[in-house]
Amino acid sequence: MKKHIAVINIPAYGHVNPTLAVVRELVNRGHRVTYVTTEEFVPAIEAAGATPLLYRSAFAEGPHPKQSQKSDPFIRLLLTFLEEMKVVLPQLEELYQNDKPDLMLHDYLAWSAKVFAIKWGIPSIQLHPTFVENEHFSMDKQFTKVHPFHPAILTFMVRLMLFLRKQKVKELTVGTFFANAAKKHIAFFPRAFQYAGDTFDERFVFAGPCLSERHFQGSWQPPADDRPVLLIALGTASQAGIDFYRMCIEAFAHSPWHVVMAIGNKTDPSLLGTLPSNVEVHARVPQLAILPHCNAFISHGGMNSTMEAMYYGVPLVVIPQTKEQEAIARRVHELGVGRFLPQDHLSIETLREAVQHAAHDEELFTRVTDMQQKVREAGGAVTAAQAIEACLRDS
Ligand code: UDP
Repeated sequence: MKKHIAVINIPAYGHVNPTLAVVRELVNRGHRVTYVTTEEFVPAIEAAGATPLLYRSAFAEGPHPKQSQKSDPFIRLLLTFLEEMKVVLPQLEELYQNDKPDLMLHDYLAWSAKVFAIKWGIPSIQLHPTFVENEHFSMDKQFTKVHPFHPAILTFMVRLMLFLRKQKVKELTVGTFFANAAKKHIAFFPRAFQYAGDTFDERFVFAGPCLSERHFQGSWQPPADDRPVLLIALGTASQAGIDFYRMCIEAFAHSPWHVVMAIGNKTDPSLLGTLPSNVEVHARVPQLAILPHCNAFISHGGMNSTMEAMYYGVPLVVIPQTKEQEAIARRVHELGVGRFLPQDHLSIETLREAVQHAAHDEELFTRVTDMQQKVREAGGAVTAAQAIEACLRDS
């Protein structure tokens, strides 16, 4: 039976991109999909076949004034998400007041959707563009390491409790909020890439990357001279400064590589001077169109970029910028499918050496090919849609 499925996400490419193929698959199966989003993502969401429903996100307004600039970045993040939830929940209730969904898919960071699901009794599935957690693996214990008795955590818990209490729903407590009412969890990477992957039960569906055509990004042609291609792209929220891109140019100028570099919207390309003939620079690149032609990829270790590289069998050099990306870089290193290059080891020589090794080590390449097979076998959007339909049947 055809159903109404709502998707609630946060306004970030790394979170929206992997949902697009899933939306397309659900629409092809005859379901009606509504997608709560901001203006920026409307073309991509419409192209996937969903009906966009616009909402106002507090993220665009920057950090909330109540947040101390001195506090730990992880705690600032918690408070930012709390404020976002307060702004978004009433909008969800208004958007769906006369059109209650049969099922809701929501990003793990779309906290408003967690509350909405419990408050309105809507079955939900949580979407994970990055590692999932259980008693055997915790991002916090292993990577972010925030002290549980940090005073800001207590402030956060009190604010969360007060907000939940205001909703006047018996089932809605800090306990149920964290326990997670989601019936299933869909992860956009294969089980083999997850830390302690074997310890996750049947509620966790490791669908792998869900890739789809991105015509709205334009096209890219490989160089006519058959040079090996090196992609340098640090995701959509890169903090890398001009010095990093200068270093990359110096490392690979006049080398055998054809270098494609995405420097984002915040870096002025004119500051890079005259480019060597083997280097092309763009603000953003159609990453999925370039990767099939790539021989190595210098990435920040976003999960999407990492999985896209594996899907196309491209060895990685990961230079993480956040703790979460460091967790991915370490996993890449542990599985031997690329190199982890910490920021404080960055130099022209280490860059060259890491790319050389990643691109030419045969054992590394064999492991990349094995991972590519696992990534493809995970099934992507078809596996995700099957799990979603199974959930619809059970609810
Ligand atoms: N991306 C792209 N072109 C760019 C930079 C990024 O198409 O120039 C896409 C990339 O293919 C991926 C997403 O944006 O799907 C970035 O997600 P990721 O998780 O790798 O990093 P984030 O941007 O979330 O840090």
